[in-house]
Amino acid sequence: MSAKPEIVLFGTGVSSGTAYGQVLKIDSRNRVIFHAEVDDVDAEARRFTEAIEISKRQVEALKSRLEEKVGGEHGVILDMHFLILDDRVFLDEILDSIRRNHANAEWALAQARDRFVEAYKSLEDEYFRERYSDIEHVTERILMNLSGEQPFSLSNLPDGVVLAARDFNPSGFAVMDIGKVRGLITESGGRTTHTAILSRGLRIPAVMGIKNLMSSVSTGDKVMLYGDTGQVVLNPDQKQVESELKKPAGLLPETGRRPRARLRTRDGVAVSLCANIEFEHEVGAAKSCGAEGVGLYRSELLYFRHPDGKPSIEEQLVVYQRLSEEMKPHPISIRTLDAGADKALPSEKPEHCANPNMGLRGIRLSLQSRDTFQAQIEAILRAACSGRIEMTLPMITTMEEIREARLLIAETRRRLASSGIKVPPVPLGVMLEVPAAVLMMESLAAEADFFCVGTNDLIQYLMAVDRGNGEVAYLYQPLHPCVLHYLTFITKTAARIKKPVRICGEISANPFYAILLLGIGFKQLSMNSLSIPLIRRVVGAVSLSDARKIARKALRLKTAKDVYEYLTPAIARAVSTDINLDSWAAEINPGG
Ligand code: PEP
Ligand code: MG
Repeated sequence: MSAKPEIVLFGTGVSSGTAYGQVLKIDSRNRVIFHAEVDDVDAEARRFTEAIEISKRQVEALKSRLEEKVGGEHGVILDMHFLILDDRVFLDEILDSIRRNHANAEWALAQARDRFVEAYKSLEDEYFRERYSDIEHVTERILMNLSGEQPFSLSNLPDGVVLAARDFNPSGFAVMDIGKVRGLITESGGRTTHTAILSRGLRIPAVMGIKNLMSSVSTGDKVMLYGDTGQVVLNPDQKQVESELKKPAGLLPETGRRPRARLRTRDGVAVSLCANIEFEHEVGAAKSCGAEGVGLYRSELLYFRHPDGKPSIEEQLVVYQRLSEEMKPHPISIRTLDAGADKALPSEKPEHCANPNMGLRGIRLSLQSRDTFQAQIEAILRAACSGRIEMTLPMITTMEEIREARLLIAETRRRLASSGIKVPPVPLGVMLEVPAAVLMMESLAAEADFFCVGTNDLIQYLMAVDRGNGEVAYLYQPLHPCVLHYLTFITKTAARIKKPVRICGEISANPFYAILLLGIGFKQLSMNSLSIPLIRRVVGAVSLSDARKIARKALRLKTAKDVYEYLTPAIARAVSTDINLDSWAAEINPGG
Protein backbone atom coordinates (compact mmCIF):
# COMPACT_ATOMS: atom_id res chain seq x y z
CA MET A 1 0.00 0.00 0.00
CA SER A 2 1.49 3.34 -0.98
CA ALA A 3 1.88 5.89 1.81
CA LYS A 4 -0.18 9.06 1.57
CA PRO A 5 1.88 12.11 0.59
CA GLU A 6 2.88 14.61 3.23
CA ILE A 7 0.94 17.87 2.92
CA VAL A 8 1.79 21.02 4.84
CA LEU A 9 -0.99 23.51 5.54
CA PHE A 10 -0.85 26.83 7.34
CA GLY A 11 -3.30 28.59 9.59
CA THR A 12 -3.20 30.65 12.74
CA GLY A 13 -1.87 28.97 15.86
CA VAL A 14 -4.47 29.83 18.49
CA SER A 15 -3.66 27.46 21.31
CA SER A 16 -0.12 26.60 22.19
CA GLY A 17 1.49 23.16 22.01
CA THR A 18 2.32 20.42 19.54
CA ALA A 19 -0.02 17.51 18.99
CA TYR A 20 -0.03 14.36 16.94
CA GLY A 21 -3.02 12.15 16.31
CA GLN A 22 -5.54 10.72 13.93
CA VAL A 23 -7.93 13.06 12.18
CA LEU A 24 -11.62 12.81 12.95
CA LYS A 25 -13.56 15.00 10.57
CA ILE A 26 -16.70 16.52 12.00
CA ASP A 27 -19.27 18.65 10.31
CA SER A 28 -20.40 22.15 11.14
CA ARG A 29 -22.81 20.91 13.75
CA ASN A 30 -20.10 19.00 15.55
CA ARG A 31 -21.54 15.76 14.23
CA VAL A 32 -18.98 12.99 13.89
CA ILE A 33 -19.23 10.96 10.73
CA PHE A 34 -17.77 7.48 11.13
CA HIS A 35 -17.61 4.71 8.61
CA ALA A 36 -19.74 1.91 10.06
CA GLU A 37 -19.97 -1.48 8.43
CA VAL A 38 -23.61 -2.30 7.57
CA ASP A 39 -24.86 -5.82 6.87
CA ASP A 40 -28.20 -5.06 5.29
CA VAL A 41 -27.27 -2.68 2.50
CA ASP A 42 -30.82 -2.66 1.09
CA ALA A 43 -32.22 -1.44 4.38
CA GLU A 44 -29.49 1.20 4.53
CA ALA A 45 -30.30 2.35 1.00
CA ARG A 46 -33.98 2.58 1.98
CA ARG A 47 -33.07 4.61 5.06
CA PHE A 48 -31.19 7.00 2.81
CA THR A 49 -34.05 7.27 0.29
CA GLU A 50 -36.51 7.98 3.09
CA ALA A 51 -34.29 10.76 4.42
CA ILE A 52 -34.27 12.24 0.90
CA GLU A 53 -38.08 12.18 0.79
CA ILE A 54 -38.36 13.84 4.20
CA SER A 55 -35.84 16.46 3.11
CA LYS A 56 -37.86 17.21 -0.02
CA ARG A 57 -41.02 17.71 2.01
CA GLN A 58 -39.17 20.05 4.36
CA VAL A 59 -37.74 22.10 1.49
CA GLU A 60 -41.22 22.29 -0.08
CA ALA A 61 -42.65 23.65 3.18
CA LEU A 62 -39.76 26.07 3.59
CA LYS A 63 -40.18 27.28 0.04
CA SER A 64 -43.82 28.18 0.52
CA ARG A 65 -43.07 29.89 3.84
CA LEU A 66 -40.36 31.92 2.15
CA GLU A 67 -42.67 32.85 -0.70
CA GLU A 68 -45.37 33.97 1.72
CA LYS A 69 -42.96 36.07 3.71
CA VAL A 70 -40.83 37.73 1.08
CA GLY A 71 -42.44 37.09 -2.26
CA GLY A 72 -42.53 34.36 -4.89
CA GLU A 73 -39.24 35.25 -6.56
CA HIS A 74 -37.31 34.32 -3.41
CA GLY A 75 -38.72 30.82 -3.32
CA VAL A 76 -36.60 29.92 -6.32
CA ILE A 77 -33.52 30.09 -4.11
CA LEU A 78 -34.64 26.76 -2.73
CA ASP A 79 -35.13 25.29 -6.18
CA MET A 80 -31.43 24.56 -6.21
CA HIS A 81 -31.97 22.41 -3.13
CA PHE A 82 -34.69 20.48 -4.94
CA LEU A 83 -32.40 19.97 -7.89
CA ILE A 84 -29.75 18.48 -5.63
CA LEU A 85 -32.29 16.26 -3.87
CA ASP A 86 -33.34 15.00 -7.30
CA ASP A 87 -29.90 14.76 -8.85
CA ARG A 88 -29.52 11.16 -10.01
CA VAL A 89 -25.74 11.39 -10.36
CA PHE A 90 -25.36 12.58 -6.78
CA LEU A 91 -27.91 10.16 -5.33
CA ASP A 92 -26.67 7.16 -7.30
CA GLU A 93 -23.10 7.79 -6.22
CA ILE A 94 -24.25 7.57 -2.60
CA LEU A 95 -26.45 4.52 -3.07
CA ASP A 96 -23.68 2.83 -4.98
CA SER A 97 -21.19 3.61 -2.23
CA ILE A 98 -23.54 2.22 0.43
CA ARG A 99 -23.71 -1.09 -1.46
CA ARG A 100 -20.09 -1.27 -2.59
CA ASN A 101 -18.52 -0.30 0.73
CA HIS A 102 -21.17 -1.78 3.00
CA ALA A 103 -21.20 1.73 4.36
CA ASN A 104 -23.61 3.66 6.52
CA ALA A 105 -25.56 6.30 4.63
CA GLU A 106 -24.04 9.20 6.60
CA TRP A 107 -20.52 8.26 5.61
CA ALA A 108 -21.40 7.64 1.96
CA LEU A 109 -23.21 10.96 1.83
CA ALA A 110 -20.34 12.87 3.44
CA GLN A 111 -17.86 11.39 0.95
CA ALA A 112 -20.04 12.37 -2.01
CA ARG A 113 -20.58 15.83 -0.55
CA ASP A 114 -16.83 16.42 -0.23
CA ARG A 115 -16.25 15.34 -3.83
CA PHE A 116 -19.08 17.44 -5.28
CA VAL A 117 -18.17 20.48 -3.21
CA GLU A 118 -14.61 20.27 -4.48
CA ALA A 119 -15.81 19.94 -8.08
CA TYR A 120 -18.04 23.02 -7.72
CA LYS A 121 -15.31 25.03 -6.07
CA SER A 122 -13.00 24.45 -9.01
CA LEU A 123 -15.47 25.93 -11.53
CA GLU A 124 -14.52 29.16 -13.26
CA ASP A 125 -17.93 30.71 -13.28
CA GLU A 126 -18.34 32.51 -9.97
CA TYR A 127 -22.07 31.89 -9.73
CA PHE A 128 -21.72 28.15 -10.11
CA ARG A 129 -18.63 28.08 -7.92
CA GLU A 130 -20.62 29.57 -5.07
CA ARG A 131 -23.25 26.84 -5.36
CA TYR A 132 -21.09 24.51 -3.31
CA SER A 133 -22.73 25.96 -0.21
CA ASP A 134 -26.11 24.69 -1.46
CA ILE A 135 -24.69 21.18 -1.55
CA GLU A 136 -23.44 21.64 2.00
CA HIS A 137 -26.80 22.89 3.23
CA VAL A 138 -28.73 20.10 1.55
CA THR A 139 -26.30 17.51 2.89
CA GLU A 140 -26.68 18.96 6.35
CA ARG A 141 -30.44 18.56 6.09
CA ILE A 142 -30.21 14.97 4.91
CA LEU A 143 -27.75 14.14 7.70
CA MET A 144 -30.12 15.65 10.21
CA ASN A 145 -32.96 13.56 8.89
CA LEU A 146 -30.85 10.43 8.88
CA SER A 147 -29.94 10.90 12.49
CA GLY A 148 -33.37 12.01 13.65
CA GLU A 149 -31.78 15.32 14.72
CA GLN A 150 -29.02 14.35 17.08
CA PRO A 151 -26.44 16.96 16.44
CA PHE A 152 -24.17 16.18 19.37
CA SER A 153 -22.46 12.86 19.26
CA LEU A 154 -19.09 14.07 20.46
CA SER A 155 -19.53 12.29 23.74
CA ASN A 156 -18.25 9.04 22.33
CA LEU A 157 -14.91 9.81 20.72
CA PRO A 158 -12.11 7.36 20.05
CA ASP A 159 -8.81 7.98 21.87
CA GLY A 160 -6.13 10.35 20.63
CA VAL A 161 -8.04 12.22 17.94
CA VAL A 162 -7.40 15.53 16.30
CA LEU A 163 -10.75 17.05 15.45
CA ALA A 164 -10.96 18.65 12.02
CA ALA A 165 -13.89 20.91 11.25
CA ARG A 166 -14.88 23.70 8.95
CA ASP A 167 -16.19 25.55 11.94
CA PHE A 168 -16.29 24.07 15.44
CA ASN A 169 -19.18 25.13 17.62
CA PRO A 170 -17.63 25.87 21.04
CA SER A 171 -20.57 24.21 22.75
CA GLY A 172 -19.04 20.93 21.54
CA PHE A 173 -16.40 21.25 24.25
CA ALA A 174 -19.09 20.86 26.86
CA VAL A 175 -20.21 17.47 25.66
CA MET A 176 -17.05 15.79 24.51
CA ASP A 177 -14.58 13.72 26.43
CA ILE A 178 -11.72 16.22 26.48
CA GLY A 179 -9.15 13.63 27.54
CA LYS A 180 -9.49 11.92 24.18
CA VAL A 181 -8.84 15.01 22.09
CA ARG A 182 -5.21 15.80 21.26
CA GLY A 183 -5.80 18.79 19.05
CA LEU A 184 -8.18 20.83 16.99
CA ILE A 185 -7.84 22.15 13.44
CA THR A 186 -10.46 24.26 11.69
CA GLU A 187 -10.94 25.97 8.37
CA SER A 188 -12.51 29.12 9.73
CA GLY A 189 -11.96 31.17 12.86
CA GLY A 190 -9.07 32.92 14.55
CA ARG A 191 -7.48 33.76 17.90
CA THR A 192 -10.39 35.61 19.45
CA THR A 193 -13.18 33.18 18.61
CA HIS A 194 -14.70 31.39 21.56
CA THR A 195 -13.52 28.11 20.17
CA ALA A 196 -9.94 29.42 20.35
CA ILE A 197 -10.45 30.82 23.83
CA LEU A 198 -11.82 27.52 25.07
CA SER A 199 -9.03 25.51 23.43
CA ARG A 200 -6.53 27.59 25.36
CA GLY A 201 -8.54 27.15 28.56
CA LEU A 202 -8.52 23.40 28.00
CA ARG A 203 -4.85 23.35 26.90
CA ILE A 204 -5.79 21.70 23.60
CA PRO A 205 -3.29 22.68 20.88
CA ALA A 206 -5.26 24.27 18.06
CA VAL A 207 -4.75 25.83 14.66
CA MET A 208 -7.57 27.74 12.99
CA GLY A 209 -8.17 29.53 9.69
CA ILE A 210 -6.57 26.78 7.58
CA LYS A 211 -7.56 27.29 3.96
CA ASN A 212 -8.91 24.20 2.16
CA LEU A 213 -8.61 22.09 5.26
CA MET A 214 -11.77 20.08 4.74
CA SER A 215 -10.95 19.15 1.18
CA SER A 216 -7.40 18.17 2.17
CA VAL A 217 -8.06 15.86 5.12
CA SER A 218 -9.94 12.63 5.56
CA THR A 219 -10.91 10.86 8.74
CA GLY A 220 -8.08 8.51 9.68
CA ASP A 221 -5.24 10.67 8.30
CA LYS A 222 -2.33 11.19 10.65
CA VAL A 223 -1.65 14.80 11.52
CA MET A 224 0.95 16.79 13.40
CA LEU A 225 -0.10 20.28 14.42
CA TYR A 226 1.86 23.13 15.90
CA GLY A 227 -0.34 25.43 17.94
CA ASP A 228 2.42 28.02 18.31
CA THR A 229 3.31 28.50 14.66
CA GLY A 230 0.09 27.52 12.91
CA GLN A 231 1.66 24.74 10.87
CA VAL A 232 -0.29 21.55 10.18
CA VAL A 233 1.42 18.53 8.61
CA LEU A 234 -0.81 15.82 7.19
CA ASN A 235 0.64 12.33 6.94
CA PRO A 236 3.97 13.42 8.45
CA ASP A 237 7.10 11.38 8.20
CA GLN A 238 7.19 8.97 11.15
CA LYS A 239 10.78 9.87 12.05
CA GLN A 240 9.86 13.53 12.22
CA VAL A 241 6.93 12.70 14.48
CA GLU A 242 9.13 10.74 16.86
CA SER A 243 11.71 13.48 17.10
CA GLU A 244 9.06 16.20 17.56
CA LEU A 245 7.36 14.29 20.33
CA LYS A 246 10.65 13.88 22.16
CA LYS A 247 11.19 17.65 22.30
CA PRO A 248 10.34 19.34 25.57
CA ALA A 249 7.15 21.39 25.37
CA GLY A 250 7.92 24.91 24.09
CA LEU A 251 6.50 27.89 25.89
CA LEU A 252 5.59 26.27 29.15
CA PRO A 253 3.75 28.51 31.54
CA GLU A 254 5.87 29.72 34.37
CA THR A 255 3.66 28.69 37.21
CA GLY A 256 6.01 27.77 40.02
CA ARG A 257 5.43 29.27 43.43
CA ARG A 258 2.49 31.52 43.87
CA PRO A 259 3.64 35.15 43.96
CA ARG A 260 2.88 36.84 47.26
CA ALA A 261 3.91 40.46 46.73
CA ARG A 262 1.56 42.94 45.10
CA LEU A 263 2.50 43.51 41.46
CA ARG A 264 3.97 46.96 40.88
CA THR A 265 5.54 48.65 37.90
CA ARG A 266 9.18 49.76 38.23
CA ASP A 267 7.99 53.17 39.36
CA GLY A 268 5.84 51.62 42.06
CA VAL A 269 2.30 51.71 40.62
CA ALA A 270 0.12 48.77 41.68
CA VAL A 271 -1.38 46.71 38.85
CA SER A 272 -3.78 43.84 39.35
CA LEU A 273 -3.96 40.78 37.10
CA CYS A 274 -7.05 38.60 37.15
CA ALA A 275 -8.01 35.44 35.31
CA ASN A 276 -10.57 34.79 32.62
CA ILE A 277 -11.93 31.31 33.10
CA GLU A 278 -14.45 29.11 31.37
CA PHE A 279 -14.21 25.86 33.32
CA GLU A 280 -14.48 25.45 37.08
CA HIS A 281 -11.33 23.36 37.30
CA GLU A 282 -9.24 26.27 35.97
CA VAL A 283 -9.59 28.28 39.11
CA GLY A 284 -6.84 26.39 40.98
CA ALA A 285 -4.35 27.06 38.18
CA ALA A 286 -5.48 30.68 38.03
CA LYS A 287 -4.72 31.11 41.69
CA SER A 288 -1.33 29.47 41.51
CA CYS A 289 -0.44 31.67 38.55
CA GLY A 290 -0.99 34.70 40.77
CA ALA A 291 -4.49 35.80 39.70
CA GLU A 292 -5.98 38.33 42.09
CA GLY A 293 -9.48 37.19 41.35
CA VAL A 294 -11.54 35.93 38.44
CA GLY A 295 -12.05 38.99 36.27
CA LEU A 296 -14.36 37.15 33.92
CA TYR A 297 -16.11 33.85 34.43
CA ARG A 298 -17.78 32.95 31.15
CA SER A 299 -20.81 31.05 32.42
CA GLU A 300 -21.80 29.71 28.99
CA LEU A 301 -20.24 26.28 29.44
CA LEU A 302 -22.62 25.55 32.30
CA TYR A 303 -25.46 25.95 29.84
CA PHE A 304 -23.81 24.14 26.97
CA ARG A 305 -23.53 21.05 29.11
CA HIS A 306 -27.30 20.81 29.29
CA PRO A 307 -29.13 19.42 26.29
CA ASP A 308 -31.99 21.83 26.96
CA GLY A 309 -29.59 24.67 27.80
CA LYS A 310 -30.98 25.18 31.31
CA PRO A 311 -28.89 24.26 34.36
CA SER A 312 -30.97 24.40 37.54
CA ILE A 313 -30.42 27.06 40.20
CA GLU A 314 -28.90 24.42 42.50
CA GLU A 315 -26.47 23.20 39.83
CA GLN A 316 -25.32 26.75 39.19
CA LEU A 317 -25.08 27.52 42.86
CA VAL A 318 -22.68 24.63 43.47
CA VAL A 319 -20.37 25.89 40.71
CA TYR A 320 -20.45 29.55 41.74
CA GLN A 321 -19.82 28.68 45.38
CA ARG A 322 -16.94 26.43 44.47
CA LEU A 323 -15.33 29.10 42.32
CA SER A 324 -15.68 31.73 44.96
CA GLU A 325 -14.51 29.41 47.75
CA GLU A 326 -11.36 28.52 45.82
CA MET A 327 -10.59 32.12 44.88
CA LYS A 328 -10.86 33.49 48.39
CA PRO A 329 -9.96 36.13 49.50
CA HIS A 330 -10.25 37.49 45.97
CA PRO A 331 -13.55 38.20 44.21
CA ILE A 332 -15.00 36.43 41.19
CA SER A 333 -16.95 38.21 38.50
CA ILE A 334 -19.65 36.04 36.99
CA ARG A 335 -20.74 37.14 33.57
CA THR A 336 -24.35 36.24 32.96
CA LEU A 337 -25.07 33.97 30.03
CA ASP A 338 -23.59 35.35 26.82
CA ALA A 339 -25.14 32.89 24.40
CA GLY A 340 -25.76 33.58 20.73
CA ALA A 341 -23.42 34.45 17.84
CA ASP A 342 -20.52 31.97 17.82
CA LYS A 343 -21.76 30.52 21.12
CA ALA A 344 -25.08 29.07 20.06
CA LEU A 345 -26.79 26.95 22.69
CA PRO A 346 -27.33 23.32 21.67
CA SER A 347 -31.05 24.07 21.53
CA GLU A 348 -30.60 26.93 19.06
CA LYS A 349 -30.88 26.39 15.34
CA PRO A 350 -27.70 27.64 13.65
CA GLU A 351 -29.59 28.94 10.62
CA HIS A 352 -31.79 31.03 12.88
CA CYS A 353 -30.18 34.32 12.02
CA ALA A 354 -28.10 35.51 9.10
CA ASN A 355 -25.96 37.91 11.11
CA PRO A 356 -25.73 36.39 14.57
CA ASN A 357 -23.02 38.68 15.91
CA MET A 358 -25.49 41.52 15.64
CA GLY A 359 -28.48 39.43 16.61
CA LEU A 360 -30.08 38.02 19.69
CA ARG A 361 -27.11 37.44 21.97
CA GLY A 362 -25.90 38.25 25.47
CA ILE A 363 -28.21 40.42 27.52
CA ARG A 364 -30.67 40.67 24.61
CA LEU A 365 -31.29 36.95 24.75
CA SER A 366 -31.40 36.89 28.56
CA LEU A 367 -34.04 39.60 28.67
CA GLN A 368 -36.17 37.55 26.30
CA SER A 369 -35.68 34.31 28.24
CA ARG A 370 -36.63 35.72 31.61
CA ASP A 371 -37.01 32.45 33.47
CA THR A 372 -33.52 31.36 32.53
CA PHE A 373 -32.13 34.79 33.36
CA GLN A 374 -33.88 34.98 36.71
CA ALA A 375 -32.67 31.53 37.64
CA GLN A 376 -29.11 32.67 36.98
CA ILE A 377 -29.59 35.87 38.94
CA GLU A 378 -30.93 33.88 41.88
CA ALA A 379 -28.00 31.47 41.80
CA ILE A 380 -25.52 34.36 41.70
CA LEU A 381 -27.22 36.22 44.55
CA ARG A 382 -27.37 33.12 46.69
CA ALA A 383 -23.71 32.36 46.02
CA ALA A 384 -22.89 35.93 47.09
CA CYS A 385 -24.12 35.09 50.60
CA SER A 386 -20.96 33.11 51.17
CA GLY A 387 -18.30 34.73 48.97
CA ARG A 388 -17.14 37.87 47.16
CA ILE A 389 -19.11 37.85 43.96
CA GLU A 390 -19.74 40.38 41.22
CA MET A 391 -22.19 40.12 38.35
CA THR A 392 -21.36 41.36 34.83
CA LEU A 393 -23.83 41.86 32.00
CA PRO A 394 -22.66 41.05 28.45
CA MET A 395 -23.41 43.01 25.27
CA ILE A 396 -25.10 45.96 26.95
CA THR A 397 -26.10 48.50 24.30
CA THR A 398 -28.72 50.71 25.95
CA MET A 399 -29.74 52.14 29.31
CA GLU A 400 -33.00 50.22 29.19
CA GLU A 401 -31.17 46.91 29.20
CA ILE A 402 -29.26 47.57 32.40
CA ARG A 403 -32.32 49.12 34.04
CA GLU A 404 -34.39 46.06 33.22
CA ALA A 405 -31.66 43.78 34.51
CA ARG A 406 -31.46 45.82 37.72
CA LEU A 407 -35.22 45.49 38.22
CA LEU A 408 -35.02 41.73 37.85
CA ILE A 409 -32.12 41.60 40.30
CA ALA A 410 -34.03 43.74 42.83
CA GLU A 411 -37.13 41.58 42.45
CA THR A 412 -35.12 38.39 43.01
CA ARG A 413 -33.37 39.94 46.00
CA ARG A 414 -36.77 40.82 47.55
CA ARG A 415 -38.09 37.33 46.95
CA LEU A 416 -35.03 35.79 48.59
CA ALA A 417 -35.34 38.20 51.53
CA SER A 418 -38.95 37.19 52.05
CA SER A 419 -37.82 33.60 52.40
CA GLY A 420 -35.17 34.57 54.91
CA ILE A 421 -32.12 34.80 52.61
CA LYS A 422 -30.48 38.16 53.06
CA VAL A 423 -28.13 38.86 50.16
CA PRO A 424 -25.20 41.30 50.65
CA PRO A 425 -24.56 43.97 47.98
CA VAL A 426 -23.41 42.42 44.69
CA PRO A 427 -21.54 44.88 42.46
CA LEU A 428 -23.08 44.99 38.99
CA GLY A 429 -20.81 45.55 35.99
CA VAL A 430 -21.35 46.31 32.35
CA MET A 431 -19.27 44.73 29.61
CA LEU A 432 -18.14 47.44 27.20
CA GLU A 433 -18.26 45.55 23.93
CA VAL A 434 -20.60 47.63 21.82
CA PRO A 435 -19.34 51.06 20.69
CA ALA A 436 -22.68 52.64 21.64
CA ALA A 437 -22.21 51.55 25.25
CA VAL A 438 -18.74 53.04 25.34
CA LEU A 439 -20.00 56.45 24.31
CA MET A 440 -22.84 56.15 26.84
CA MET A 441 -20.53 55.16 29.71
CA GLU A 442 -21.30 58.18 31.80
CA SER A 443 -25.05 57.56 31.63
CA LEU A 444 -24.65 53.82 32.16
CA ALA A 445 -22.59 54.58 35.24
CA ALA A 446 -25.79 55.65 37.00
CA GLU A 447 -26.71 51.96 37.03
CA ALA A 448 -23.31 50.24 36.82
CA ASP A 449 -20.81 49.77 39.63
CA PHE A 450 -17.91 48.93 37.33
CA PHE A 451 -16.98 48.39 33.71
CA CYS A 452 -15.29 45.50 32.02
CA VAL A 453 -13.93 46.07 28.51
CA GLY A 454 -14.46 43.16 26.12
CA THR A 455 -12.02 44.04 23.38
CA ASN A 456 -12.66 40.79 21.51
CA ASP A 457 -16.09 42.06 20.60
CA LEU A 458 -15.41 45.77 20.79
CA ILE A 459 -12.80 45.49 18.04
CA GLN A 460 -15.11 43.43 15.86
CA TYR A 461 -17.87 46.02 16.13
CA LEU A 462 -15.55 49.02 15.77
CA MET A 463 -13.85 47.66 12.68
CA ALA A 464 -17.01 45.95 11.31
CA VAL A 465 -15.14 42.66 11.09
CA ASP A 466 -16.52 39.31 12.20
CA ARG A 467 -13.99 38.04 14.74
CA GLY A 468 -14.30 34.50 13.36
CA ASN A 469 -14.07 35.23 9.65
CA GLY A 470 -10.62 34.42 8.30
CA GLU A 471 -11.24 36.29 5.05
CA VAL A 472 -11.41 39.64 6.79
CA ALA A 473 -9.06 38.80 9.66
CA TYR A 474 -6.56 41.33 8.29
CA LEU A 475 -9.01 44.04 9.41
CA TYR A 476 -9.18 42.77 12.97
CA GLN A 477 -6.60 45.28 14.19
CA PRO A 478 -6.22 45.79 17.93
CA LEU A 479 -3.44 48.28 17.18
CA HIS A 480 -5.58 50.43 14.94
CA PRO A 481 -5.47 54.03 16.25
CA CYS A 482 -9.27 54.06 16.36
CA VAL A 483 -9.20 51.17 18.86
CA LEU A 484 -6.55 52.98 20.91
CA HIS A 485 -8.63 56.17 20.95
CA TYR A 486 -11.68 54.24 22.11
CA LEU A 487 -9.73 52.60 24.90
CA THR A 488 -8.30 55.96 25.94
CA PHE A 489 -11.80 57.41 26.03
CA ILE A 490 -12.82 54.55 28.30
CA THR A 491 -10.01 54.99 30.83
CA LYS A 492 -10.38 58.78 30.88
CA THR A 493 -14.15 58.59 31.37
CA ALA A 494 -13.83 55.93 34.06
CA ALA A 495 -11.29 58.09 35.94
CA ARG A 496 -13.49 61.18 35.66
CA ILE A 497 -16.63 59.45 36.90
CA LYS A 498 -14.63 57.40 39.41
CA LYS A 499 -15.74 53.95 38.31
CA PRO A 500 -13.42 50.94 38.28
CA VAL A 501 -12.62 49.55 34.84
CA ARG A 502 -10.76 46.42 33.82
CA ILE A 503 -9.94 44.94 30.50
CA CYS A 504 -10.96 41.35 29.79
CA GLY A 505 -10.29 40.82 26.10
CA GLU A 506 -7.65 38.43 24.82
CA ILE A 507 -5.31 41.30 24.06
CA SER A 508 -4.19 41.66 27.68
CA ALA A 509 -2.37 38.34 27.38
CA ASN A 510 0.23 39.70 24.96
CA PRO A 511 3.12 41.59 26.64
CA PHE A 512 3.14 44.37 24.05
CA TYR A 513 -0.56 45.02 24.30
CA ALA A 514 -0.40 44.73 28.08
CA ILE A 515 2.20 47.53 28.33
CA LEU A 516 0.25 49.64 25.85
CA LEU A 517 -2.91 49.13 27.91
CA LEU A 518 -1.08 50.27 31.04
CA GLY A 519 0.05 53.36 29.17
CA ILE A 520 -3.53 54.00 28.10
CA GLY A 521 -4.61 53.93 31.74
CA PHE A 522 -5.75 50.39 32.62
CA LYS A 523 -4.53 49.12 35.99
CA GLN A 524 -6.59 45.94 36.05
CA LEU A 525 -6.06 43.35 33.34
CA SER A 526 -7.86 40.03 33.10
CA MET A 527 -6.56 37.24 30.87
CA ASN A 528 -6.26 33.48 30.48
CA SER A 529 -4.42 32.31 33.56
CA LEU A 530 -1.47 30.73 31.76
CA SER A 531 -0.42 34.17 30.53
CA ILE A 532 -0.42 35.75 33.98
CA PRO A 533 3.16 34.81 35.03
CA LEU A 534 4.63 36.26 31.83
CA ILE A 535 2.58 39.46 32.00
CA ARG A 536 3.51 39.78 35.67
CA ARG A 537 7.18 39.72 34.81
CA VAL A 538 6.84 42.18 31.96
CA VAL A 539 4.67 44.65 33.89
CA GLY A 540 7.08 44.50 36.82
CA ALA A 541 9.93 45.35 34.46
CA VAL A 542 8.52 48.55 32.98
CA SER A 543 7.79 51.96 34.43
CA LEU A 544 4.34 53.41 34.06
CA SER A 545 5.78 56.73 32.90
CA ASP A 546 7.55 54.98 29.99
CA ALA A 547 4.37 53.07 29.12
CA ARG A 548 2.42 56.34 29.11
CA LYS A 549 4.92 58.06 26.81
CA ILE A 550 4.75 55.14 24.39
CA ALA A 551 0.95 55.15 24.39
CA ARG A 552 0.80 58.91 23.83
CA LYS A 553 3.03 58.65 20.80
CA ALA A 554 1.15 55.62 19.43
CA LEU A 555 -2.09 57.57 19.62
CA ARG A 556 -0.72 60.14 17.20
CA LEU A 557 -0.04 57.57 14.47
CA LYS A 558 -2.34 56.82 11.56
CA THR A 559 -2.40 53.08 10.89
CA ALA A 560 -2.07 49.84 12.81
CA LYS A 561 1.14 49.16 10.89
CA ASP A 562 2.62 52.52 11.96
CA VAL A 563 1.70 51.76 15.56
CA TYR A 564 3.23 48.30 15.33
CA GLU A 565 6.47 49.56 13.83
CA TYR A 566 6.87 52.22 16.47
CA LEU A 567 5.56 50.27 19.44
CA THR A 568 7.36 46.95 19.34
CA PRO A 569 10.95 48.26 19.51
CA ALA A 570 9.90 51.02 21.93
CA ILE A 571 8.36 48.55 24.36
CA ALA A 572 11.19 46.04 23.97
CA ARG A 573 13.59 48.86 25.00
CA ALA A 574 11.40 50.01 27.87
CA VAL A 575 11.05 46.56 29.41
CA SER A 576 14.18 45.75 31.37
CA THR A 577 14.10 41.98 31.20
CA ASP A 578 15.97 39.19 29.53
CA ILE A 579 12.75 37.57 28.27
CA ASN A 580 12.84 37.26 24.52
CA LEU A 581 9.69 38.98 23.30
CA ASP A 582 10.18 38.35 19.56
CA SER A 583 7.45 35.74 19.17
CA TRP A 584 4.98 38.03 20.95
CA ALA A 585 5.85 40.84 18.58
CA ALA A 586 5.35 38.53 15.62
CA GLU A 587 1.93 37.52 16.94
CA ILE A 588 0.60 41.08 16.82
CA ASN A 589 2.10 42.14 13.52
CA PRO A 590 -0.85 43.49 11.50
CA GLY A 591 0.94 42.64 8.27
CA GLY A 592 2.07 39.22 9.42
C1 PEP B 1 -14.80 40.14 24.81
O1 PEP B 1 -15.66 40.30 23.95
O2 PEP B 1 -13.68 40.69 24.79
C2 PEP B 1 -15.05 39.24 25.95
C3 PEP B 1 -14.25 39.19 26.99
O3 PEP B 1 -16.12 38.41 25.85
P1 PEP B 1 -16.14 37.10 24.92
O4 PEP B 1 -14.76 36.88 24.38
O5 PEP B 1 -16.61 35.98 25.76
O6 PEP B 1 -17.12 37.49 23.87
MG1 MG C 1 -17.63 39.50 24.25
